[in-house]
Amino acid sequence: LANRAFHPEDSIVDVSGVKIGGDHLALIAGPCSVESYEQVLEIAQAAKASGANLLRGGAFKPRTSPYAFQGLGMEGLDILCAVREATGLPVVTELMSPNYLDVFNERVDLIQIGARNMQNFDLLKQLGQVDRPILLKRGLNATYEEWIMSAEYIMASGNENVILCERGIRTFETYTRNTLDLQSIPVLKRLTHLPVVVDPSHAGGKWWLVEPMAIAAVAAGADGLMIEVHNNPECALCDGAQSLKPKKYDMVLNSIKQIAPVVGKQ
Ligand code: PEP
Ligand code: MN
Repeated sequence: LANRAFHPEDSIVDVSGVKIGGDHLALIAGPCSVESYEQVLEIAQAAKASGANLLRGGAFKPRTSPYAFQGLGMEGLDILCAVREATGLPVVTELMSPNYLDVFNERVDLIQIGARNMQNFDLLKQLGQVDRPILLKRGLNATYEEWIMSAEYIMASGNENVILCERGIRTFETYTRNTLDLQSIPVLKRLTHLPVVVDPSHAGGKWWLVEPMAIAAVAAGADGLMIEVHNNPECALCDGAQSLKPKKYDMVLNSIKQIAPVVGKQ
């Protein structure tokens, strides 16, 4: 179903009125984790003023350590919805458990499936039951074929609104958090008709890698960028080192706005 051969034109996915794919560039910004209403509101307002059109924020967090901050859960979801109300930005947040499928279907504009759940086939099959589009992140060591097959699980279950998200893969290099696979953009766009969004924040793990990799991703044909933005990265409960301050995010989007028209994106 994802195969370009049977669907030559690019798919455009509608996220509560924001189009992703074709000549539309998705600019998803927000903190790694929702920490408070004031935090998310401040970041969302600044990011929107810079040109972001979707708000991200984790409420249910997949943390490597069980002792690390696990997210605010339902309270975090309430905060995201309140900030959507205040700013008009549709909300992107990660679903980890099928227990919250109905709540997410009702309240989340774009449901994120994280790298660690890319091959949670039971969860993927259940996504066929929701009306919301899905942002499917690439698994930590997933091949293109495995990633496409995961998209296929969702589509074959009845939900064809899938957006792929490259977020870096594990390699032998340890200096960076992951290695951003820029080649995945042209490859996935050749093999499938689905939009491809790039997350340079989780790829590099360092804030100063975000701008060059964001520019490279758009130049390589990405349909959008998901970037972590925090108003106080030093004190962030999660992923502060890779988060941009709102002012830096504004500078990055200024660079992106110069590249986008060159590759046919608005
Ligand atoms: C995230 O985007 O918040 C996240 C946890 O990313 P990933 O699943 O790519 O590690
Ligand atoms: Mn994060």
